[in-house]
Amino acid sequence: MTFRKQLFIPNKRAYITGLQRPSVDCIICSIINDDPAVSNLTVWKNTKVAACANLYPYNAGHILLYPLRHIEDPRELTAEESAQMHTLLCQSLARLDSVYHPEGYNIGYNIGEASGASIEHLHQHIVPRYPRELGFVDITAGAKIIIEDPNVTLTRLREAFADLNF
Ligand SMILES: [Zn+2]
Repeated sequence: MTFRKQLFIPNKRAYITGLQRPSVDCIICSIINDDPAVSNLTVWKNTKVAACANLYPYNAGHILLYPLRHIEDPRELTAEESAQMHTLLCQSLARLDSVYHPEGYNIGYNIGEASGASIEHLHQHIVPRYPRELGFVDITAGAKIIIEDPNVTLTRLREAFADLNF
């Protein structure tokens, strides 16, 4: 784990100057519950699912979607949660298209430590992709210097999601 720390943390720390990862049991549950110990990154939520900005974005507009219920595997999603996650995915793509105009997306779950997952609470990444950026390996290895102030990201995304209601 020392290797991973050295590989990932310095770039992230350089990018998120002034922000520290809080010591809470589950950072996503803390965000859901508006715990004052964590930054309020929520972009949108209803009674089942939510979206937040990634504190450690790989690219501009990188967001996370998750069920409000703390589960750690997509096989634990109820049919309703699963349908709502998909609706939120589609609605998020439409909004990211209009705000960031990316040329593509990487979408998916990282599950288990070997995948690079650092948060157990099940969450789906939506990573917008842009022309003339570095390859995905460069990005996932943290080799890229990013992009947009997280507060700017949050403002833009919250405006774009303000009309969403399901
Ligand atoms: Zn959780």
